Amino acid sequence: MIYYSLNHQSPRVSFAEAAVKGQAPDKGLYFPEHIPVLPKDFIQHLKSKSKEDIGFTVMKPYVGESIPDDVLQQIIAETINFDFPLVQISDSISALELFHGPTLAFKDVGARFMSRCLGYFNRHSKTHTTVLVATSGDTGGAVANGFLGVDGVDVIILYPSGKVSPVQELQLTTPGRNITAIEVQGNFDDCQAIVKQAFADETLNKKYALTSANSINVARWLPQQLYYFYACQQWQFDEPPVICVPSGNFGNICAGIVAYMSGLPVKHFIAACNANDTVPAFLQTGAYKARQAVATISNAMDVGNPSNFVRIMELFQQKFDGLKSMLGSVSIDDETTKATIKTVKEQFNYLLDPHGAVAYKALADYLSGNEKGFILETAHPVKFPETVEAVTGETIKIPESVQHLLSKTKKSVMLTSSFEAFKDWMMR
Ligand SMILES: *Cc1c(COP(=O)(O)O)cnc(C)c1O
Repeated sequence: MIYYSLNHQSPRVSFAEAAVKGQAPDKGLYFPEHIPVLPKDFIQHLKSKSKEDIGFTVMKPYVGESIPDDVLQQIIAETINFDFPLVQISDSISALELFHGPTLAFKDVGARFMSRCLGYFNRHSKTHTTVLVATSGDTGGAVANGFLGVDGVDVIILYPSGKVSPVQELQLTTPGRNITAIEVQGNFDDCQAIVKQAFADETLNKKYALTSANSINVARWLPQQLYYFYACQQWQFDEPPVICVPSGNFGNICAGIVAYMSGLPVKHFIAACNANDTVPAFLQTGAYKARQAVATISNAMDVGNPSNFVRIMELFQQKFDGLKSMLGSVSIDDETTKATIKTVKEQFNYLLDPHGAVAYKALADYLSGNEKGFILETAHPVKFPETVEAVTGETIKIPESVQHLLSKTKKSVMLTSSFEAFKDWMMR
């Protein structure tokens, strides 16, 4: 597969180069030259395939010759070695639970795949690669976990001070070794802006081989397609599902649309947003206006200028009408999100996290008649205990997989939100 830059001012590259660079030199996002269409037979017999088979068949065309088959098979096996259950909540709504990985949120799959790819590409290299990543909450932990101990790769995570939950903060500030956490006195957009400036900065690029682990990186973005295949494998109804994805940077839902364009049967997509309603407003007015991010209880979606939206536009060849016929988007406020957590717990005894609740409400409002669909439940409710416990009045049991974190000490570097402060620290 060949990748081009969406700014069209950079050379075309292989998967390996796109993954190592992260972003194209012209600052565009890399995009695959074509979307492979999977054999009908493969889609029809999804149920009889193993997760590993699906992973390999879906990812192989995107990886091309960059990684030998046996190594790719190994990488995929390690990436998806936990469950992705589709759990029915009500008659019409199910949840694809994506929180059974090591950091209890869906970003584990992308981070694990990407870290192993970079480890492979770096296997003979004497220079270190430095992964720079901005996180609104979950990316940091997943990237830290995915890259911990990977030879030749250092990871620097920028997160907004005071705006991530305690479990999230521990996941990204306690691993140590090749992982450093920078606590930025600002919001997620500030963190993302620093990362973008760093990639464009000559001095920094002379000293470091920088790459990004945000969903702008194709090695993180593309494997997220697998969720949608695993969900459809478990789908019990004849009609294809309406799929509702809690969205922030729009990488996850964009991967879902790629899966659909490869042949996966889907009736409609809904991007569920919190108060950060840039895309819902765009779909209503046709005018895209980036906004300042505002803080909400679904903090991993506090994004005012979603970077992957340009990829969605490209998938629909920049045609607004085509896009609108397949993708809806709504904004759900914090009060409604809390009320949804409470109602769903009381009515169906299912505990949603705030991100899943945003999606549940958006999907419930959308479905009519006999339509059925599923949400992507992107994080375990224990990552947001203040909200969930206050709403339901119950304490959430901390899963064993995160208990060990509670005794660890946070280590971070506190910086202001200016790029200069970050650069000074990097050049120290
Ligand atoms: C990152 C994240 C999202 C948003 O995903 P995008 O791919 O950025 O749209 C939603 N929910 C949770 C829990 C997340 O961590």
